[in-house]
Amino acid sequence: MLLLDACGHARYVWNLALEQRLMWERWKGPTPGYNGQAAQLTEARRASPWLAQGSQTVQQQALRDLDQAWRNFFAGTHARPTWRKRGRHEGFRVVGAQALRVRQDNRRWSSVLVPKVGWVAFRRSRDLPDFRSYRVTRDRSGRWHIAFAAIPDPIPGPGTGQVVGVDRGVAVAVALSDATMTSSAGLRAKEAERRLRLQRQLARQRKGSNRRSRTKAALARLAAREADRRKDWVEKTSTGLARRFDVIRVEDLNVCGMTCSARGTLEKPGRNVRAKAGLNRGVLAAGWGQLVTRLEQKAPGRVQRVDPAFTSLTCNACKAVDPRSRKNQADFECTSCGHQANADVNAARNIRDREPAVGRTVAARGDRATSARSVKREPQRARLLTVA
Ligand SMILES: [Zn+2]
Repeated sequence: MLLLDACGHARYVWNLALEQRLMWERWKGPTPGYNGQAAQLTEARRASPWLAQGSQTVQQQALRDLDQAWRNFFAGTHARPTWRKRGRHEGFRVVGAQALRVRQDNRRWSSVLVPKVGWVAFRRSRDLPDFRSYRVTRDRSGRWHIAFAAIPDPIPGPGTGQVVGVDRGVAVAVALSDATMTSSAGLRAKEAERRLRLQRQLARQRKGSNRRSRTKAALARLAAREADRRKDWVEKTSTGLARRFDVIRVEDLNVCGMTCSARGTLEKPGRNVRAKAGLNRGVLAAGWGQLVTRLEQKAPGRVQRVDPAFTSLTCNACKAVDPRSRKNQADFECTSCGHQANADVNAARNIRDREPAVGRTVAARGDRATSARSVKREPQRARLLTVA
């Protein structure tokens, strides 16, 4: 069996389970969780020889990953799970005892025993960490990659008791209560231009033509570069925050993430509008999710989630709440006291000053909300393993 088959199996299982979850939601019945779907997977393997050829470990892991993706979605840190497409999402994950079968062949090469595939050699780009799982992927330009997931060692805080508020911004990815704002470098202007040109080319090219696949590969390389830079930014920013501050407060988007429309509810007016508006919203959102995940790994127990209601409309100086204080995307000017600030920094300060929402009851859609919360509440190693 080939690696690509394993990818196909994982994708098939993911999409099937995703479809099922979406159908179930429409019928408003109880949603089948991971356990229910795992049982169905066993049946599906019995019914389909094609599926049964593949590794059950790999296929079960796809279900677990989907389960985690839903929980991340309900927790508000990630977007809704999407369909996996052939050629675009080629990959699978191996976790647990089976993931540990790795041998070093020589100075640069190692091999990994992929379930049902056999030993696959790979060149090490760095020393292998103390890993528990790995993911094999094939990018759109056809290159295979293997990534070993390791939990980063916790970073000690400065011990000064300093608290920082982090707000997800509009123009930049995050704004801090100390008035710094930072964003992933993303693509340079020249590169963005080139991407636009390539996208136009792609639209003109005939499906299945060689030129088209070359354009696609070039686009894939640009996308990979962008993702690399974002990852780099996430690592540097999370390490910096964990090192400089003892307590890091972010918005608890749990409830909002699953129930708020873009325009928001009465209680939480338009928090998502800001996030959802703008051209590069996807990029910013992805960066935000990764940043929070990484922060909780690097500063376990020091990341606090606070109620996000009105943080963008409250004056940090006099605490007056007024939508009109928010002049535009960038500027905040209090209608009561005249306090002026960058809108995102003002929001970050409100987040900093807010006590974490411990024991706050979640009424709506109880069961799902609480399970999502309890997962988010414990920044524990056991859970972090499944995120990587
Ligand atoms: Zn004011």
